[in-house]
Amino acid sequence: MVLNARLDHRDPLVFDTHELGRRPGALQRLNRTVDAPRDLGIKGVIGVPEGAPVELGLRLESVMDGVLVTGTARARAKGECVRCLEPLEQELEADFQELFSYPDADDRGRASAEPGDDAEDDEDRLFVEDGLIGLESVLRDAVVLALPMQPVCREDCPGLCSECGARLADDPDHHHDAVDIRWAALQGLAGSLGDGEKDDMSGDAPRSADAAEKQEK
Ligand SMILES: [Zn+2]
Ligand SMILES: [Zn+2]
Repeated sequence: MVLNARLDHRDPLVFDTHELGRRPGALQRLNRTVDAPRDLGIKGVIGVPEGAPVELGLRLESVMDGVLVTGTARARAKGECVRCLEPLEQELEADFQELFSYPDADDRGRASAEPGDDAEDDEDRLFVEDGLIGLESVLRDAVVLALPMQPVCREDCPGLCSECGARLADDPDHHHDAVDIRWAALQGLAGSLGDGEKDDMSGDAPRSADAAEKQEK
């Protein structure tokens, strides 16, 4: 109980299970749109802006030891493409399932008797407190898991020019003189190969290997 002392029924991410009751098998479905809490997402990469709507679809099921919550959160996440650094938005759908235990159902005195040994374990456990469950940490974990660590504006985003930082998507033909020279060398090689097999036979292996390597880039 002490662990969840912060639960407040006015918090939109706190749900009341009184109506569900404690008879195992009882089911309740709930839909609620809440304002995104602060820092919902992967900090500095992508996330749901504070206050943006998060649609929650929940299924509460009364089980022997507590309340099993299965749900989906939908929202729009905003971030920045890791390749071209342009802002991006994407639909987020995060599924989660979590058991909230009744404090008296699994009361082996662990929280008070062995705080050292099971501190980590207890931190992960969620409880029903005075009939209330708090979904904020569950939502946070689910959202982080559902978001890409390396968001891109599109799968084939070409990113930025490594030499001048220009956005390559804006300018597909973007190039610098150094690149020109390499292509000229390749074209020259292609031309000489086209002249016949003589050049090939005369041993141009180093140049060919060089050209092949550049072509891969
Ligand atoms: Zn991009
Ligand atoms: Zn450039």
